[in-house]
Amino acid sequence: MKNKIRLRFAPSPTGFLHIGNLRSALFGYLLAKSMGGDFILRIEDTDQKREVEGAVKSLLDVFSWVGIKFDEGPHIGGKYGPYIQTERLEIYQKYIKELLKKDGAYHCFCSAERLEEMRNKQQENKQAPKYDGHCRNLSKEEVDKKIKNGESYVIRQKIPQNIYVEVVDELRGKIVFKTADLDDHVLMKSNGIPTYQFANIIDDHLMEISHVSRGDEWLASFPKNALLYQAFGWELPKFIHLPLILNKGGGKLSKRQGDVFVEDYRNKGYLPEAIINFCALLGWHPKDDQEILSMDEIIKKFNISGMGSSPAVFDLEKLDYLNGYYLRQKNIEELSDLCRPYLIKEGLVDEKTDLKFIHKVITVSQERLKKLEDINELSFYFFRDDIVYDENLLIWKNLSLKEVKNNLKELIPVLESLSENDWTKKKLEEIIFNYIKNNNKKNGDYLWPMRVALSGEKNSPSPTEIAEILGKKKSLKRINNVIN
Ligand code: GLU
Repeated sequence: MKNKIRLRFAPSPTGFLHIGNLRSALFGYLLAKSMGGDFILRIEDTDQKREVEGAVKSLLDVFSWVGIKFDEGPHIGGKYGPYIQTERLEIYQKYIKELLKKDGAYHCFCSAERLEEMRNKQQENKQAPKYDGHCRNLSKEEVDKKIKNGESYVIRQKIPQNIYVEVVDELRGKIVFKTADLDDHVLMKSNGIPTYQFANIIDDHLMEISHVSRGDEWLASFPKNALLYQAFGWELPKFIHLPLILNKGGGKLSKRQGDVFVEDYRNKGYLPEAIINFCALLGWHPKDDQEILSMDEIIKKFNISGMGSSPAVFDLEKLDYLNGYYLRQKNIEELSDLCRPYLIKEGLVDEKTDLKFIHKVITVSQERLKKLEDINELSFYFFRDDIVYDENLLIWKNLSLKEVKNNLKELIPVLESLSENDWTKKKLEEIIFNYIKNNNKKNGDYLWPMRVALSGEKNSPSPTEIAEILGKKKSLKRINNVIN
């Protein structure tokens, strides 16, 4: 067992951060921090075709937004650098030579055409695709000669034949693989750049990673990775393969069904505390069933025994619920600051709009807010006067449109009687309810049409709340608009 707890997040800089990758990073962070260890960022950029410029910067931005802090990484340095794989190419060269010497790898000169032919045959015979070992037993002389002749080659892992490999995953326990099923996969490409399967292992070893926590799409590589450690004579770290994240229908999370990038959620107005709380519950459950958890609480409660290996379900309703909860915890100033950019972008307010007015609008919308961008839909009628009415919506139960208009007409003098100074929710309620009661009428027959006249919306705060915010003049104007 390694002395120090060290975990890493090792993303490939291929674009925006997938929410599943954020979950992986978070679990690495939680495992590290809950055991008092360090958390390291390593950039796995050996597949340069897939690299996207600016990806590392946006990654770091997301991590600082959600509050995941690294102890070492390309942005802050550390004792085990460099932390970017393309800056470590010499290191991989050194170790691949060592592995060749130890007979844990071999040169393969097969051409792309030969490999394709091989694969086609395997497909025809319904065999699993796997390198057929054509170059496995070339003599040293043959290899040297081919290299001298300038033949291009890759280096493959020499998987021992026909044995069983036993590995232990911390969540799944012992797993036994037959090496006959394992491919002699490529460790070093013909351009001298290592693949994930090589660079990752070398780096985890050199960076003294104690626990490799990674997505369970890598479970199939686990025995090969373990054999590589064995070939070098290195101690195997502990491995934790994080459970898959599925959508509610049971399929893979994919762009087609909804947002998959953290940035998308951020843009829509999900709060970092909600995203962290949500992601922590994708594959972990606290003993005490507490559902609302801050990062600090999660770290305190986090334990590998609370993790499972069965797929976690990405339930957007749950994220909305958590986000709504955290939005309701904000005070009005904070929430207004968060909402304002959305209102500005929509053209509903500008820099000059009275902040007190915005605060009032946010106050009556807070309860219904699931994400910040909802604020536009929930509150636009406070900022705009061009309300389009749906006549059917104005109608309460079995009233006719004529009756609706009549009721509103009856309300006008009642409302007029209140001075501008007294135009508050409380006083409005008083006079309206008095009128309804004294005339033996029903609440809904007046309140519903009044609410729709003020907002144009099916769902909105109570008519007196809206009226207070709009003020006397605007409120009466909107009700008159409906009457006429
Ligand atoms: N670069 C790999 C990826 O992005 C890292 C997997 C791992 O954590 O080992 O999937």
